[in-house]
Amino acid sequence: MLTTRPRGTNDILPGEVEKWQFIENEARKVSRDFGYQEIRTPIFEHTELFLRGVGETTDIVEKEMYSFFDRGKRNITLRPEGTASTVRAFLENKLFAEPQPTKMYYIGPMFRYDRPQAGRYRQFHQYGVEVFGSHHPSVDAEVIGLACTYLEKLGLSGIKVHINTVGCPECRPQHHVNLLKYFEDKKDKLCNTCQDRMAKNPLRILDCKNSTCQEISISAPTTESSACSECKGHFQQVLNYLEILEVNYLVDPKLVRGLDYYTHTAFEILVQGIGAQSAICGGGRYNGLIEQCGGKPMPGIGFAMGLERLLLTLNNEKVNLTGLLSNPEIYIAVTSPKAQELSFRLAMELRKKGISTEKDYFEKSLKAQMKAADRFDVKFTLILGEEELANNKIIVKEMATSEQKEIPIDDILSYLERGLLKND
Ligand code: AMP
Repeated sequence: MLTTRPRGTNDILPGEVEKWQFIENEARKVSRDFGYQEIRTPIFEHTELFLRGVGETTDIVEKEMYSFFDRGKRNITLRPEGTASTVRAFLENKLFAEPQPTKMYYIGPMFRYDRPQAGRYRQFHQYGVEVFGSHHPSVDAEVIGLACTYLEKLGLSGIKVHINTVGCPECRPQHHVNLLKYFEDKKDKLCNTCQDRMAKNPLRILDCKNSTCQEISISAPTTESSACSECKGHFQQVLNYLEILEVNYLVDPKLVRGLDYYTHTAFEILVQGIGAQSAICGGGRYNGLIEQCGGKPMPGIGFAMGLERLLLTLNNEKVNLTGLLSNPEIYIAVTSPKAQELSFRLAMELRKKGISTEKDYFEKSLKAQMKAADRFDVKFTLILGEEELANNKIIVKEMATSEQKEIPIDDILSYLERGLLKND
């Protein structure tokens, strides 16, 4: 127990963590280029927020939340996703009073009591964006374009966006009627949860992971077939803007978001080769969510991307993320205990100047220290012994050429700075 992490969680070890830093930094860069600002919300929130903001009939709320009572007897939940918290922060901090739209992004851990397997964890990380305040179809396309640009910048090719319209409060009642009619004589074959959904929210049946329910749903009426003219018009314009962006998309009538506050656009980015968990990004418009969370009616749209799945995909596609490991530039080898203090001071000075420096911590032999310098793949090794100390000099070995020089200690900083510049 003491040496085992909880099921569904991961350690991100040195060597791997550089890849994380890289994809996070790229996410920050692309978000900035598109005019999105970062928001950081708490890891835990009042449970009520997710009941409202994610939806009581969703799998997340029904089965997957990490909820507990804290010592003050408050009902708390570790955030299972980022949108509800972002909406809460938008309302609580009155960001709606600023010029609109509000464009934000977040990166961080999420928690779901899911069944762990490759690409599915209980603690996982998402990069997500949200835009509040604009109905404009170009925003839908911009959000999708941002996700694609990010993936392309990371080196993924062949990205395909599956997209659908899920209707709006105007046309959804008719769609519900059509669905109920369709499922009526198939009800007995549906799973128990879906039989419940017949009464509560038949659209959610199309979301069910049960294979029989999925089979039955294949010929169910599509949202597009009952979409009102506004929904159809919006969808057409979104597709139009996607063409302008040259986004590769596929209209997928099976793609649904089964909650009332989801409106118009729903999309997913699927990739091959990461097993059953093929979605790396999911998003859509939620024009009813801000009102559902206690605000004035205001449109919104966003996406969330799973960073574990993204890294799995990058690994599978053999996108080269190695070379991100930054080696120290300098190694200081010490051959006399008397030189320890000076080498220590020198290491600190170099580091303060922004020159990454490693040293020996075991008073090892020179041979062992030179081996370590090789392993670190440094550019220069400094060798400091009794003789050098006495002469106020230091030996500098340029590792690429094996050339050695004696440099006065007072000149070492500027010598290395010049040498490192030359090597860049
Ligand atoms: P969702 O918030 O369910 O729409 O998920 C958005 C994205 O987050 C998915 O496309 C996945 O890439 C990722 N994701 C969702 N759940 C998990 C999980 N349990 N483990 C790893 N990634 C996940």
